[in-house]
Amino acid sequence: MKQTIQILKDNVINQIAAGEVIQRPSSIIKELLENSIDAQANNIHIIIKKSGKGLIQIIDNGIGMNIQDAKVCFIKHATSKIESTDDITKISTMGFRGEALASIASVAEVELKTKTQDEEIGTLICIDNSKINKITQTACKRGTSIIVKNLFFNIPARKNFLKSDKIELKHIIETFIQIALSHHHINFQFTNDGKQLYNLSTENFKNRIIQLFGRRYKQKILQIKEQTTIVAIDGFLGNPLDAKKTRGEQYLFVNNRFIRSPYLNHAIKESMADLIQTDQHPSYFIFLNIDHQYIDVNVHPNKTEVKFEDEKSIYQILKSACKRTIGMSNIKPSLDFSIEKSFEVPIHIQNNPPKEPKINVNSDFNPFRKKFARDKENTQNIQKLFKEENTSDIYEVFNIDNRYALFKINHDNIINLIDKKKAIERIIYDQTIQSLNNQEINSQLTINPTTVELNAIDMQIIKENNTTIENLGYKIESIEKENIIISAIPFYLNQDGTQEFIELIIESIKKSNTITDNQITKEIAKKITYQKTTHEKYPNNKDLLIRLINKLMKCEIPFIGIDGKPSVISVEPNKIFN
Ligand code: ADP
Ligand code: MG
Repeated sequence: MKQTIQILKDNVINQIAAGEVIQRPSSIIKELLENSIDAQANNIHIIIKKSGKGLIQIIDNGIGMNIQDAKVCFIKHATSKIESTDDITKISTMGFRGEALASIASVAEVELKTKTQDEEIGTLICIDNSKINKITQTACKRGTSIIVKNLFFNIPARKNFLKSDKIELKHIIETFIQIALSHHHINFQFTNDGKQLYNLSTENFKNRIIQLFGRRYKQKILQIKEQTTIVAIDGFLGNPLDAKKTRGEQYLFVNNRFIRSPYLNHAIKESMADLIQTDQHPSYFIFLNIDHQYIDVNVHPNKTEVKFEDEKSIYQILKSACKRTIGMSNIKPSLDFSIEKSFEVPIHIQNNPPKEPKINVNSDFNPFRKKFARDKENTQNIQKLFKEENTSDIYEVFNIDNRYALFKINHDNIINLIDKKKAIERIIYDQTIQSLNNQEINSQLTINPTTVELNAIDMQIIKENNTTIENLGYKIESIEKENIIISAIPFYLNQDGTQEFIELIIESIKKSNTITDNQITKEIAKKITYQKTTHEKYPNNKDLLIRLINKLMKCEIPFIGIDGKPSVISVEPNKIFN
Protein backbone atom coordinates (compact mmCIF):
# COMPACT_ATOMS: atom_id res chain seq x y z
CA MET A 1 0.00 0.00 0.00
CA LYS A 2 1.25 3.41 -0.92
CA GLN A 3 1.75 5.57 2.09
CA THR A 4 0.61 9.16 1.75
CA ILE A 5 0.55 11.53 4.64
CA GLN A 6 -2.46 13.79 4.80
CA ILE A 7 -3.32 16.61 7.10
CA LEU A 8 -6.59 15.73 8.77
CA LYS A 9 -9.62 17.93 8.18
CA ASP A 10 -10.78 20.08 11.07
CA ASN A 11 -13.91 18.11 11.75
CA VAL A 12 -11.88 14.91 11.92
CA ILE A 13 -9.44 16.54 14.33
CA ASN A 14 -12.33 17.73 16.46
CA GLN A 15 -13.88 14.30 16.50
CA ILE A 16 -10.62 12.82 17.67
CA ALA A 17 -10.42 15.37 20.47
CA ALA A 18 -14.06 14.72 21.27
CA GLY A 19 -13.15 11.10 21.88
CA GLU A 20 -11.18 12.25 24.89
CA VAL A 21 -13.30 15.10 26.13
CA ILE A 22 -16.83 13.95 25.39
CA GLN A 23 -17.48 10.42 26.48
CA ARG A 24 -21.11 10.65 27.47
CA PRO A 25 -23.85 13.19 28.21
CA SER A 26 -22.32 13.96 31.60
CA SER A 27 -19.10 15.15 29.92
CA ILE A 28 -21.09 17.69 27.90
CA ILE A 29 -22.82 18.91 31.01
CA LYS A 30 -19.49 19.26 32.79
CA GLU A 31 -17.98 21.31 29.97
CA LEU A 32 -21.01 23.54 29.51
CA LEU A 33 -21.37 24.17 33.23
CA GLU A 34 -17.71 25.04 33.45
CA ASN A 35 -18.16 27.53 30.65
CA SER A 36 -21.12 29.13 32.42
CA ILE A 37 -19.07 29.38 35.59
CA ASP A 38 -16.16 30.92 33.71
CA ALA A 39 -18.67 33.39 32.26
CA GLN A 40 -19.44 34.43 35.86
CA ALA A 41 -23.00 33.23 35.84
CA ASN A 42 -24.74 33.03 39.19
CA ASN A 43 -27.86 31.41 37.89
CA ILE A 44 -27.71 28.25 35.83
CA HIS A 45 -30.51 26.09 34.48
CA ILE A 46 -29.87 22.56 33.36
CA ILE A 47 -32.59 21.01 31.28
CA ILE A 48 -32.12 17.50 29.98
CA LYS A 49 -34.29 14.94 28.26
CA LYS A 50 -33.79 11.21 28.37
CA SER A 51 -30.78 11.59 30.63
CA GLY A 52 -29.08 13.85 28.13
CA LYS A 53 -29.45 11.41 25.25
CA GLY A 54 -32.48 13.33 24.02
CA LEU A 55 -31.39 16.87 24.75
CA ILE A 56 -29.10 18.90 26.94
CA GLN A 57 -29.69 22.58 27.49
CA ILE A 58 -27.72 24.85 29.77
CA ILE A 59 -28.95 28.39 30.28
CA ASP A 60 -26.83 30.87 32.17
CA ASN A 61 -26.93 34.54 33.07
CA GLY A 62 -23.22 35.04 32.50
CA ILE A 63 -21.37 37.61 30.43
CA GLY A 64 -22.48 36.10 27.11
CA MET A 65 -20.70 36.47 23.79
CA ASN A 66 -20.89 39.07 21.09
CA ILE A 67 -21.54 37.97 17.53
CA GLN A 68 -17.86 37.71 16.60
CA ASP A 69 -17.06 35.49 19.58
CA ALA A 70 -20.18 33.41 19.04
CA LYS A 71 -19.02 32.67 15.50
CA VAL A 72 -15.58 31.47 16.52
CA CYS A 73 -16.21 29.76 19.84
CA PHE A 74 -16.79 26.42 18.10
CA ILE A 75 -13.41 26.45 16.43
CA LYS A 76 -10.78 24.26 18.03
CA HIS A 77 -8.40 26.14 20.28
CA ALA A 78 -10.72 29.11 20.34
CA THR A 79 -10.56 30.37 23.90
CA SER A 80 -10.81 33.69 25.67
CA LYS A 81 -9.11 32.29 28.75
CA ILE A 82 -5.45 32.07 27.91
CA GLU A 83 -3.17 33.78 25.44
CA SER A 84 0.35 32.63 26.02
CA THR A 85 2.14 29.60 27.42
CA ASP A 86 2.81 31.70 30.44
CA ASP A 87 -0.90 31.78 31.19
CA ILE A 88 -1.00 27.99 31.40
CA THR A 89 0.97 28.18 34.59
CA LYS A 90 -1.59 30.38 36.31
CA ILE A 91 -4.94 29.12 35.21
CA SER A 92 -7.80 30.32 37.34
CA THR A 93 -10.68 29.44 35.03
CA MET A 94 -12.29 26.02 34.74
CA GLY A 95 -11.62 25.80 31.01
CA PHE A 96 -8.58 26.89 29.05
CA ARG A 97 -7.98 24.37 26.27
CA GLY A 98 -10.56 25.80 23.90
CA GLU A 99 -11.68 22.40 22.75
CA ALA A 100 -14.95 21.68 24.53
CA LEU A 101 -17.31 23.49 22.20
CA ALA A 102 -15.39 22.35 19.12
CA SER A 103 -15.58 18.78 20.35
CA ILE A 104 -19.27 18.97 21.19
CA ALA A 105 -20.09 20.52 17.81
CA SER A 106 -18.30 17.67 16.07
CA VAL A 107 -20.44 14.96 17.64
CA ALA A 108 -23.86 16.58 18.07
CA GLU A 109 -26.21 19.26 16.80
CA VAL A 110 -25.79 22.49 18.68
CA GLU A 111 -27.85 25.62 19.01
CA LEU A 112 -26.29 28.65 20.70
CA LYS A 113 -28.13 31.75 21.82
CA THR A 114 -26.11 34.42 23.49
CA LYS A 115 -26.04 38.11 24.32
CA THR A 116 -23.68 40.39 26.17
CA GLN A 117 -24.60 43.24 28.45
CA ASP A 118 -23.70 45.87 25.84
CA GLU A 119 -25.60 44.44 22.91
CA GLU A 120 -29.20 45.24 22.15
CA ILE A 121 -29.85 42.02 20.36
CA GLY A 122 -28.45 38.55 20.77
CA THR A 123 -27.07 35.98 18.34
CA LEU A 124 -28.50 32.61 17.38
CA ILE A 125 -26.24 30.07 15.76
CA CYS A 126 -27.04 26.51 14.71
CA ILE A 127 -24.23 24.07 14.08
CA ASP A 128 -24.44 20.78 12.31
CA ASN A 129 -21.42 18.51 11.87
CA SER A 130 -19.04 21.27 12.95
CA LYS A 131 -20.45 23.74 10.39
CA ILE A 132 -22.54 26.83 11.03
CA ASN A 133 -25.75 26.28 9.09
CA LYS A 134 -27.75 29.14 10.51
CA ILE A 135 -26.87 32.45 12.03
CA THR A 136 -29.40 35.14 12.91
CA GLN A 137 -30.12 37.81 15.40
CA THR A 138 -32.48 36.96 18.18
CA ALA A 139 -34.06 38.63 21.15
CA CYS A 140 -32.70 37.19 24.37
CA LYS A 141 -31.53 38.10 27.84
CA ARG A 142 -27.92 38.63 28.77
CA GLY A 143 -26.21 35.28 29.05
CA THR A 144 -25.93 32.11 27.06
CA SER A 145 -28.15 29.18 26.25
CA ILE A 146 -26.70 26.13 24.55
CA ILE A 147 -28.79 23.23 23.32
CA VAL A 148 -27.09 19.98 22.40
CA LYS A 149 -29.16 17.39 20.55
CA ASN A 150 -28.64 14.16 18.75
CA LEU A 151 -25.45 13.26 20.54
CA PHE A 152 -23.10 10.98 18.59
CA PHE A 153 -25.45 10.98 15.57
CA ASN A 154 -22.37 10.64 13.37
CA ILE A 155 -20.52 8.09 15.54
CA PRO A 156 -22.89 5.14 15.94
CA ALA A 157 -20.29 3.10 17.81
CA ARG A 158 -20.13 5.75 20.52
CA LYS A 159 -23.86 6.10 20.61
CA ASN A 160 -24.26 2.39 21.16
CA PHE A 161 -21.71 2.54 23.90
CA LEU A 162 -23.97 4.77 25.99
CA LYS A 163 -25.55 3.06 28.96
CA SER A 164 -29.16 2.97 30.10
CA ASP A 165 -30.93 6.23 30.94
CA LYS A 166 -30.61 5.38 34.60
CA ILE A 167 -26.86 4.96 34.46
CA GLU A 168 -26.30 8.03 32.29
CA LEU A 169 -28.39 10.06 34.71
CA LYS A 170 -26.29 8.78 37.57
CA HIS A 171 -23.15 10.05 35.83
CA ILE A 172 -24.80 13.40 35.19
CA ILE A 173 -25.90 13.78 38.78
CA GLU A 174 -22.41 12.92 39.98
CA THR A 175 -20.93 15.59 37.70
CA PHE A 176 -23.59 18.05 38.79
CA ILE A 177 -22.87 17.45 42.47
CA GLN A 178 -19.15 17.99 41.96
CA ILE A 179 -19.82 21.34 40.36
CA ALA A 180 -22.67 22.40 42.64
CA LEU A 181 -20.53 21.70 45.70
CA SER A 182 -17.58 23.73 44.56
CA HIS A 183 -19.80 26.59 43.39
CA HIS A 184 -22.21 26.91 46.24
CA HIS A 185 -22.77 30.59 45.61
CA ILE A 186 -24.46 29.75 42.28
CA ASN A 187 -28.20 29.02 41.98
CA PHE A 188 -28.83 25.83 40.08
CA GLN A 189 -32.02 24.43 38.68
CA PHE A 190 -31.92 21.01 37.13
CA THR A 191 -34.73 19.09 35.41
CA ASN A 192 -34.81 15.80 33.58
CA ASP A 193 -37.83 14.97 31.38
CA GLY A 194 -39.71 17.84 32.98
CA LYS A 195 -39.10 16.55 36.48
CA GLN A 196 -37.17 18.83 38.80
CA LEU A 197 -34.17 17.06 40.30
CA TYR A 198 -32.54 19.98 42.08
CA ASN A 199 -33.37 23.55 42.85
CA LEU A 200 -30.46 24.98 44.77
CA SER A 201 -30.36 28.53 46.00
CA THR A 202 -27.06 30.22 46.76
CA GLU A 203 -25.69 28.96 50.07
CA ASN A 204 -22.60 28.62 52.17
CA PHE A 205 -20.62 25.42 51.68
CA LYS A 206 -22.03 23.54 54.64
CA ASN A 207 -25.60 24.30 53.66
CA ARG A 208 -24.87 23.30 50.07
CA ILE A 209 -23.74 19.91 51.39
CA ILE A 210 -27.02 19.69 53.29
CA GLN A 211 -29.00 20.76 50.20
CA LEU A 212 -27.38 17.97 48.24
CA PHE A 213 -27.11 15.19 50.77
CA GLY A 214 -29.77 15.88 53.34
CA ARG A 215 -30.18 17.31 56.80
CA ARG A 216 -28.57 14.36 58.49
CA TYR A 217 -25.29 15.97 57.47
CA LYS A 218 -25.91 18.90 59.72
CA GLN A 219 -24.51 17.28 62.83
CA LYS A 220 -22.45 14.69 61.14
CA ILE A 221 -19.68 16.65 59.54
CA LEU A 222 -16.59 18.02 61.20
CA GLN A 223 -14.98 21.20 60.04
CA ILE A 224 -11.43 21.05 58.80
CA LYS A 225 -9.28 24.12 58.37
CA GLU A 226 -5.54 24.40 58.02
CA GLN A 227 -3.29 27.07 56.62
CA THR A 228 0.29 26.32 55.65
CA THR A 229 2.69 27.91 53.23
CA ILE A 230 2.20 25.07 50.77
CA VAL A 231 -1.50 24.52 50.94
CA ALA A 232 -4.65 25.87 52.56
CA ILE A 233 -7.21 23.26 53.53
CA ASP A 234 -10.86 23.99 54.09
CA GLY A 235 -13.99 21.93 54.26
CA PHE A 236 -15.67 19.13 56.12
CA LEU A 237 -14.94 15.59 57.10
CA GLY A 238 -17.66 13.00 57.65
CA ASN A 239 -17.64 11.51 61.12
CA PRO A 240 -15.40 8.44 60.81
CA LEU A 241 -17.94 6.41 62.75
CA ASP A 242 -20.37 6.94 59.89
CA ALA A 243 -17.94 5.68 57.28
CA LYS A 244 -19.65 3.50 54.73
CA LYS A 245 -18.95 0.38 52.78
CA THR A 246 -19.61 2.02 49.50
CA ARG A 247 -17.35 4.74 48.31
CA GLY A 248 -19.80 7.53 48.75
CA GLU A 249 -19.36 11.20 49.30
CA GLN A 250 -15.71 11.77 48.61
CA TYR A 251 -15.13 15.19 47.20
CA LEU A 252 -11.73 16.72 46.90
CA PHE A 253 -11.26 20.01 45.10
CA VAL A 254 -8.03 21.66 44.16
CA ASN A 255 -8.42 25.36 43.52
CA ASN A 256 -12.13 24.77 43.18
CA ARG A 257 -11.76 22.01 40.62
CA PHE A 258 -13.02 18.53 41.47
CA ILE A 259 -10.19 16.06 41.17
CA ARG A 260 -9.65 12.37 41.67
CA SER A 261 -6.59 11.48 43.64
CA PRO A 262 -6.26 8.00 45.09
CA TYR A 263 -3.09 9.19 46.78
CA LEU A 264 -4.70 12.03 48.70
CA ASN A 265 -7.77 9.93 49.37
CA HIS A 266 -5.40 7.56 51.08
CA ALA A 267 -4.06 10.38 53.25
CA ILE A 268 -7.57 11.09 54.51
CA LYS A 269 -8.33 7.44 55.09
CA GLU A 270 -5.05 6.96 56.90
CA SER A 271 -5.86 9.80 59.26
CA MET A 272 -8.71 7.74 60.64
CA ALA A 273 -7.23 4.29 60.25
CA ASP A 274 -7.93 3.51 63.87
CA LEU A 275 -11.52 4.50 63.67
CA ILE A 276 -12.72 2.87 60.49
CA GLN A 277 -12.55 -0.60 59.07
CA THR A 278 -10.28 -1.16 56.10
CA ASP A 279 -13.21 -1.65 53.77
CA GLN A 280 -15.06 1.43 54.89
CA HIS A 281 -14.84 4.73 53.13
CA PRO A 282 -14.95 8.03 54.96
CA SER A 283 -16.89 10.86 53.43
CA TYR A 284 -15.25 14.20 52.92
CA PHE A 285 -15.75 17.52 51.20
CA ILE A 286 -12.37 19.17 51.12
CA PHE A 287 -10.93 22.12 49.27
CA LEU A 288 -7.21 22.45 48.80
CA ASN A 289 -5.93 25.80 47.77
CA ILE A 290 -2.50 25.80 46.25
CA ASP A 291 -0.60 28.50 44.46
CA HIS A 292 -1.13 27.97 40.72
CA GLN A 293 2.55 27.75 40.05
CA TYR A 294 2.86 24.59 42.14
CA ILE A 295 0.27 22.56 40.30
CA ASP A 296 -0.39 21.51 36.76
CA VAL A 297 -4.01 21.04 35.73
CA ASN A 298 -3.15 20.40 32.13
CA VAL A 299 -2.55 16.69 32.59
CA HIS A 300 -5.77 15.19 31.37
CA PRO A 301 -8.27 16.36 28.73
CA ASN A 302 -11.17 16.30 31.15
CA LYS A 303 -9.10 18.00 33.81
CA THR A 304 -9.94 15.72 36.73
CA GLU A 305 -6.31 15.06 37.48
CA VAL A 306 -3.79 17.47 38.83
CA LYS A 307 -0.04 17.18 39.18
CA PHE A 308 1.40 18.61 42.35
CA GLU A 309 4.93 19.78 42.63
CA ASP A 310 5.16 18.61 46.21
CA GLU A 311 2.62 15.85 46.54
CA LYS A 312 4.31 14.23 49.52
CA SER A 313 4.08 17.30 51.70
CA ILE A 314 0.47 17.84 50.73
CA TYR A 315 -0.22 14.24 51.70
CA GLN A 316 1.32 14.76 55.12
CA ILE A 317 -0.36 18.09 55.77
CA LEU A 318 -3.74 16.77 54.72
CA LYS A 319 -3.34 13.72 56.91
CA SER A 320 -2.37 15.72 59.99
CA ALA A 321 -5.12 18.26 59.40
CA CYS A 322 -7.70 15.48 59.26
CA LYS A 323 -6.23 13.89 62.38
CA ARG A 324 -6.41 17.15 64.20
CA THR A 325 -10.05 17.67 63.20
CA ILE A 326 -10.94 14.21 64.41
CA GLY A 327 -8.92 14.62 67.58
CA MET A 328 -10.56 17.89 68.46
CA SER A 329 -14.06 16.64 67.91
CA ASN A 330 -13.84 14.02 70.66
CA ILE A 331 -15.31 11.24 68.66
CA LYS A 332 -16.40 8.53 70.98
CA PRO A 333 -18.38 5.43 70.17
CA SER A 334 -21.86 5.57 71.56
CA LEU A 335 -25.38 4.72 70.62
CA ASP A 336 -27.79 7.39 69.59
CA PHE A 337 -29.68 7.26 72.87
CA SER A 338 -30.52 9.99 75.28
CA ILE A 339 -28.93 7.80 77.94
CA GLU A 340 -26.02 7.19 75.67
CA LYS A 341 -23.42 7.45 78.41
CA SER A 342 -24.68 4.20 79.85
CA PHE A 343 -24.10 2.38 76.64
CA GLU A 344 -20.64 1.85 75.47
CA VAL A 345 -20.20 0.38 72.08
CA PRO A 346 -16.85 -0.99 71.16
CA ILE A 347 -15.75 0.26 67.82
CA HIS A 348 -12.49 -1.17 66.96
CA ILE A 349 -10.17 -3.41 68.80
CA GLN A 350 -6.97 -2.04 67.43
CA ASN A 351 -3.38 -2.62 68.25
CA ASN A 352 -2.13 0.82 67.41
CA PRO A 353 -4.17 3.63 68.80
CA PRO A 354 -3.46 6.90 67.05
CA LYS A 355 -0.68 8.87 68.59
CA GLU A 356 -0.70 12.32 67.19
CA PRO A 357 -2.95 14.08 67.93
CA LYS A 358 -4.58 11.98 70.60
CA ILE A 359 -7.98 10.76 69.57
CA ASN A 360 -10.40 10.12 72.34
CA VAL A 361 -11.13 6.46 71.79
CA ASN A 362 -10.44 3.70 74.19
CA SER A 363 -9.03 1.13 71.86
CA ASP A 364 -9.11 -1.61 74.46
CA PHE A 365 -12.74 -1.17 75.15
CA ASN A 366 -14.58 -4.38 75.79
CA PRO A 367 -18.27 -4.53 76.58
CA PHE A 368 -17.80 -7.49 78.85
CA ARG A 369 -15.89 -5.38 81.25
CA LYS A 370 -17.59 -4.04 84.27
CA LYS A 371 -16.50 -0.48 83.94
CA PHE A 372 -15.21 1.34 80.96
CA ALA A 373 -12.09 2.46 82.74
CA ARG A 374 -11.36 -0.76 84.52
CA ASP A 375 -8.04 -2.52 84.14
CA LYS A 376 -7.49 -5.22 81.60
CA GLU A 377 -7.41 -8.15 83.98
CA ASN A 378 -11.08 -8.86 83.99
CA THR A 379 -11.32 -8.73 80.23
CA GLN A 380 -8.51 -11.12 79.78
CA ASN A 381 -10.03 -13.54 82.22
CA ILE A 382 -13.32 -13.51 80.47
CA GLN A 383 -11.76 -14.04 77.10
CA LYS A 384 -9.63 -16.83 78.47
CA LEU A 385 -12.71 -18.37 79.91
CA PHE A 386 -14.24 -18.71 76.52
CA LYS A 387 -11.09 -19.78 74.86
CA GLU A 388 -11.20 -22.73 77.24
CA GLU A 389 -14.68 -23.52 76.01
CA ASN A 390 -16.07 -23.13 79.45
CA THR A 391 -19.73 -22.53 78.84
CA SER A 392 -20.98 -22.70 82.35
CA ASP A 393 -20.62 -19.01 82.98
CA ILE A 394 -22.98 -17.89 80.30
CA TYR A 395 -26.44 -17.99 81.68
CA GLU A 396 -29.85 -16.42 81.70
CA VAL A 397 -30.01 -16.55 77.97
CA PHE A 398 -33.21 -14.91 76.86
CA ASN A 399 -34.48 -14.54 73.34
CA ILE A 400 -35.93 -11.18 72.52
CA ASP A 401 -37.10 -12.27 69.14
CA ASN A 402 -35.68 -14.46 66.49
CA ARG A 403 -32.71 -12.20 65.88
CA TYR A 404 -31.67 -10.78 69.24
CA ALA A 405 -31.05 -12.25 72.66
CA LEU A 406 -29.93 -11.18 76.08
CA PHE A 407 -27.45 -13.04 78.22
CA LYS A 408 -25.32 -12.66 81.27
CA ILE A 409 -21.83 -13.77 82.04
CA ASN A 410 -20.59 -14.60 85.50
CA HIS A 411 -22.62 -13.14 88.28
CA ASP A 412 -21.99 -9.53 87.53
CA ASN A 413 -24.76 -7.13 86.85
CA ILE A 414 -24.11 -6.54 83.18
CA ILE A 415 -26.69 -7.52 80.62
CA ASN A 416 -25.38 -8.29 77.17
CA LEU A 417 -27.44 -7.88 74.09
CA ILE A 418 -26.39 -9.97 71.13
CA ASP A 419 -27.31 -9.63 67.49
CA LYS A 420 -27.34 -13.24 66.33
CA LYS A 421 -27.06 -12.31 62.69
CA LYS A 422 -23.94 -10.25 63.23
CA ALA A 423 -22.51 -12.90 65.51
CA ILE A 424 -22.99 -15.63 62.91
CA GLU A 425 -21.44 -13.44 60.24
CA ARG A 426 -18.43 -12.77 62.41
CA ILE A 427 -17.93 -16.48 63.10
CA ILE A 428 -18.28 -17.53 59.47
CA TYR A 429 -16.03 -14.69 58.43
CA ASP A 430 -13.25 -15.76 60.76
CA GLN A 431 -13.52 -19.33 59.50
CA THR A 432 -13.43 -18.15 55.92
CA ILE A 433 -10.37 -16.01 56.49
CA GLN A 434 -8.64 -19.04 57.91
CA SER A 435 -9.56 -21.23 54.97
CA LEU A 436 -8.49 -18.57 52.52
CA ASN A 437 -5.18 -18.12 54.27
CA ASN A 438 -4.61 -21.85 54.25
CA GLN A 439 -5.70 -21.95 50.61
CA GLU A 440 -8.38 -24.41 51.53
CA ILE A 441 -11.00 -22.89 49.31
CA ASN A 442 -12.04 -25.54 46.84
CA SER A 443 -13.39 -24.87 43.44
CA GLN A 444 -16.60 -26.14 41.99
CA LEU A 445 -16.98 -26.64 38.28
CA THR A 446 -19.99 -24.84 36.91
CA ILE A 447 -22.27 -26.57 34.43
CA ASN A 448 -22.08 -23.72 31.96
CA PRO A 449 -19.01 -21.52 31.96
CA THR A 450 -19.59 -17.96 33.10
CA THR A 451 -18.70 -15.03 30.89
CA VAL A 452 -17.41 -11.96 32.64
CA GLU A 453 -17.36 -8.78 30.60
CA LEU A 454 -14.56 -6.35 31.27
CA ASN A 455 -13.14 -3.19 29.84
CA ALA A 456 -9.61 -3.11 28.48
CA ILE A 457 -7.97 -1.81 31.65
CA ASP A 458 -9.64 -4.38 33.86
CA MET A 459 -8.79 -7.08 31.38
CA GLN A 460 -5.15 -6.17 31.66
CA ILE A 461 -5.38 -6.42 35.44
CA ILE A 462 -6.85 -9.90 35.14
CA LYS A 463 -4.06 -10.97 32.83
CA GLU A 464 -1.43 -9.72 35.22
CA ASN A 465 -3.04 -11.24 38.28
CA ASN A 466 -4.49 -14.48 37.10
CA THR A 467 -2.72 -16.49 39.79
CA THR A 468 -4.23 -14.37 42.56
CA ILE A 469 -7.62 -15.01 41.05
CA GLU A 470 -7.05 -18.72 40.59
CA ASN A 471 -5.81 -19.01 44.15
CA LEU A 472 -9.19 -17.85 45.28
CA GLY A 473 -10.79 -20.80 43.54
CA TYR A 474 -11.63 -19.42 40.13
CA LYS A 475 -10.59 -21.29 37.05
CA ILE A 476 -10.07 -19.04 34.06
CA GLU A 477 -10.70 -21.10 30.98
CA SER A 478 -9.92 -18.52 28.37
CA ILE A 479 -9.42 -14.83 27.94
CA GLU A 480 -11.06 -13.22 24.94
CA LYS A 481 -11.05 -9.64 23.77
CA GLU A 482 -13.59 -8.25 26.19
CA ASN A 483 -14.59 -11.34 28.10
CA ILE A 484 -13.08 -13.88 30.36
CA ILE A 485 -14.58 -17.31 30.50
CA ILE A 486 -14.66 -18.91 33.91
CA SER A 487 -15.24 -22.61 34.30
CA ALA A 488 -14.95 -23.02 38.04
CA ILE A 489 -15.79 -20.78 40.96
CA PRO A 490 -14.96 -20.91 44.68
CA PHE A 491 -16.89 -23.58 46.47
CA TYR A 492 -18.82 -21.23 48.70
CA LEU A 493 -20.05 -18.89 46.03
CA ASN A 494 -22.90 -19.18 43.65
CA GLN A 495 -22.46 -18.55 40.00
CA ASP A 496 -24.74 -15.51 39.74
CA GLY A 497 -22.36 -13.25 41.56
CA THR A 498 -19.30 -14.01 39.45
CA GLN A 499 -19.24 -10.77 37.47
CA GLU A 500 -19.67 -8.70 40.61
CA PHE A 501 -17.04 -10.71 42.40
CA ILE A 502 -14.43 -10.43 39.71
CA GLU A 503 -15.06 -6.67 39.60
CA LEU A 504 -14.57 -6.57 43.33
CA ILE A 505 -11.27 -8.39 43.06
CA ILE A 506 -10.16 -6.02 40.31
CA GLU A 507 -11.09 -3.05 42.44
CA SER A 508 -9.07 -4.48 45.32
CA ILE A 509 -6.10 -5.09 43.05
CA LYS A 510 -6.32 -1.55 41.69
CA LYS A 511 -6.02 -0.26 45.20
CA SER A 512 -3.20 -2.64 45.92
CA ASN A 513 -0.48 -0.04 46.08
CA THR A 514 -2.08 0.89 49.33
CA ILE A 515 -3.82 -2.34 50.11
CA THR A 516 -2.14 -5.60 50.82
CA ASP A 517 -3.18 -9.07 49.75
CA ASN A 518 -4.41 -9.47 53.23
CA GLN A 519 -7.01 -6.85 52.58
CA ILE A 520 -8.09 -8.46 49.36
CA THR A 521 -8.62 -11.62 51.38
CA LYS A 522 -10.74 -9.69 53.85
CA GLU A 523 -12.94 -8.28 51.11
CA ILE A 524 -13.39 -11.68 49.58
CA ALA A 525 -14.05 -13.32 52.94
CA LYS A 526 -16.74 -10.81 53.63
CA LYS A 527 -18.46 -11.47 50.33
CA ILE A 528 -18.33 -15.18 50.93
CA THR A 529 -19.73 -14.70 54.42
CA TYR A 530 -22.68 -12.70 53.19
CA GLN A 531 -23.43 -15.26 50.53
CA LYS A 532 -23.18 -18.13 53.00
CA THR A 533 -25.23 -16.59 55.74
CA THR A 534 -28.17 -15.07 53.89
CA HIS A 535 -30.34 -18.10 54.58
CA GLU A 536 -28.79 -18.99 57.90
CA LYS A 537 -31.32 -19.62 60.69
CA TYR A 538 -30.70 -17.93 64.00
CA PRO A 539 -30.55 -20.28 66.96
CA ASN A 540 -33.33 -19.84 69.52
CA ASN A 541 -32.67 -22.88 71.58
CA LYS A 542 -30.69 -22.11 74.75
CA ASP A 543 -27.89 -24.62 74.19
CA LEU A 544 -27.33 -23.55 70.62
CA LEU A 545 -27.32 -19.93 71.65
CA ILE A 546 -24.71 -20.57 74.29
CA ARG A 547 -22.62 -22.35 71.73
CA LEU A 548 -22.99 -19.43 69.38
CA ILE A 549 -21.88 -16.97 72.06
CA ASN A 550 -18.91 -19.16 72.88
CA LYS A 551 -17.87 -19.38 69.29
CA LEU A 552 -18.21 -15.65 68.91
CA MET A 553 -15.96 -15.09 71.89
CA LYS A 554 -13.25 -17.04 70.16
CA CYS A 555 -13.27 -14.77 67.16
CA GLU A 556 -10.53 -12.25 66.75
CA ILE A 557 -12.85 -9.26 67.09
CA PRO A 558 -15.96 -10.66 68.74
CA PHE A 559 -17.82 -7.49 69.57
CA ILE A 560 -17.93 -5.93 66.19
CA GLY A 561 -19.84 -7.28 63.26
CA ILE A 562 -18.07 -7.50 59.95
CA ASP A 563 -20.05 -4.45 58.89
CA GLY A 564 -18.27 -2.43 61.57
CA LYS A 565 -21.30 -2.20 63.83
CA PRO A 566 -21.51 -3.83 67.24
CA SER A 567 -22.52 -7.46 67.49
CA VAL A 568 -22.76 -7.33 71.27
CA ILE A 569 -23.66 -4.36 73.41
CA SER A 570 -23.50 -4.43 77.16
CA VAL A 571 -25.72 -2.51 79.49
CA GLU A 572 -25.06 -1.79 83.10
CA PRO A 573 -28.36 -1.08 84.84
CA ASN A 574 -26.76 0.70 87.76
CA LYS A 575 -25.18 3.15 85.36
CA ILE A 576 -28.48 3.91 83.72
CA PHE A 577 -30.59 4.34 86.80
CA ASN A 578 -28.32 6.06 89.25
P1 ADP B 1 -12.48 26.95 26.97
O1 ADP B 1 -13.54 26.91 28.01
O2 ADP B 1 -11.41 25.99 27.24
O3 ADP B 1 -11.99 28.32 26.68
P2 ADP B 1 -14.59 26.13 25.21
O4 ADP B 1 -14.57 25.42 23.91
O5 ADP B 1 -15.30 25.47 26.32
O6 ADP B 1 -13.10 26.44 25.61
O7 ADP B 1 -15.21 27.55 24.99
C1 ADP B 1 -14.63 28.43 24.05
C2 ADP B 1 -14.90 29.88 24.38
O8 ADP B 1 -16.27 30.20 24.20
C3 ADP B 1 -14.60 30.24 25.82
O9 ADP B 1 -13.23 30.55 26.00
C4 ADP B 1 -15.51 31.44 26.04
O10 ADP B 1 -14.90 32.61 25.60
C5 ADP B 1 -16.68 31.16 25.12
N1 ADP B 1 -17.83 30.60 25.86
C6 ADP B 1 -18.18 29.30 25.94
N2 ADP B 1 -19.28 29.14 26.71
C7 ADP B 1 -19.64 30.36 27.14
C8 ADP B 1 -20.69 30.85 27.98
N3 ADP B 1 -21.59 30.03 28.56
N4 ADP B 1 -20.74 32.18 28.21
C9 ADP B 1 -19.83 33.01 27.65
N5 ADP B 1 -18.82 32.61 26.87
C10 ADP B 1 -18.70 31.30 26.61
MG1 MG C 1 -14.76 25.33 28.39
